[in-house]
Amino acid sequence: MSRVYNFSAGPAVLPEEVLREAQEEMLDYRGCGMSVMEMSHRSKMFDDILNEAEADLRELLNIPDDYKVLFLQGGASLQFAQIPMNLMKNRVADYIVTGQWAKKAWQEAQKFGTANKIASSEDKTYSYIPDCSDLPISPDADYVYICENNTIYGTKYKTLPDTKGKLLVSDVSSCFLSEPMDVTKYGIVYGGVQKNIGPAGMVISIIREDLITDDVLPGTPTMMKFKTQADAGSLYNTPNCWCIYICGKVFKWLKKMGGLSAMKERNEKKAKVLYDFLDSSRLFRGTVEKESRSLMNVPFVTGDKDMDAKFVKEAQAAGLENLKGHRTVGGMRASIYNAMPMEGVEALVAFMKKFEEENA
Ligand SMILES: *Cc1c(COP(=O)(O)O)cnc(C)c1O
Repeated sequence: MSRVYNFSAGPAVLPEEVLREAQEEMLDYRGCGMSVMEMSHRSKMFDDILNEAEADLRELLNIPDDYKVLFLQGGASLQFAQIPMNLMKNRVADYIVTGQWAKKAWQEAQKFGTANKIASSEDKTYSYIPDCSDLPISPDADYVYICENNTIYGTKYKTLPDTKGKLLVSDVSSCFLSEPMDVTKYGIVYGGVQKNIGPAGMVISIIREDLITDDVLPGTPTMMKFKTQADAGSLYNTPNCWCIYICGKVFKWLKKMGGLSAMKERNEKKAKVLYDFLDSSRLFRGTVEKESRSLMNVPFVTGDKDMDAKFVKEAQAAGLENLKGHRTVGGMRASIYNAMPMEGVEALVAFMKKFEEENA
């Protein structure tokens, strides 16, 4: 067996320890004679898995009691519709468009009401986070929406927008649990787990309790009402049991690593190694304005498409996988999520140095 350094943006690298534990428990989960994939989601065994996962997540993020935690299916993309269906009482919402995921959410919201684009960084290919200190927030906006870490472009909000008293809704898919977060600043904060937490196929949504009501847009399907899911403790229908199980293991791993402050420190150190090299390189350069740089997704280019392709190919041969940039932007992107060890980033930078010597 040989494992590569996997820089994929998602589904992405998981802690090896977690994979090994799952392997050990695969055929016989803790003496029950079956795998987690085979057990009833109504069993005591699974109930414990679900409850423990939620308790550990609450501890990691310090989630207050008046917030519900929902484990939902449909990925982050279904939230683009579920959020307006549940929150757009006035049929008005404000969107800050800092990349493709924010843009998709903004476009989806237009199906349900007036979705205003109140700021954007499209003018410079989403390479920065706009100044959000004094935005033209709509007086009747039901919420203000952001994508906090832009997976494709590699930007991250360093301060949250001033929403002028309006509810803040945030997609944190690609920075979820990468650092501590003050949940009380948000009405809803949610993320697809396949970026920084677990396997694909689930989104975790943390929702302030007073926002979970029967007052949803007419025609909202039962499954799309947050209240349906909240009342049933994420067990209205069969949840993604396997995903909840693996996420639970990752939460335990994060606690063992020292929690989210320790992860932040670790992630800052890792990102610094790569950004410092990019800033001094004669061949490579980062594409994001320094103040907006993400700790999780690091896009870079050589400025020459053929050279980029050569780099990606040779890196792959050297065991550095999935460095090709998103199909819409080209170049390279290294996603260095929680589970990417420092050794992986060091190996990447060493390879980049060697490639630069041979090609610059
Ligand atoms: C990947 C991603 C999504 C889409 O996630 P799916 O689970 O595939 O729907 C949405 N937002 C962000 C920020 C992402 O990185």
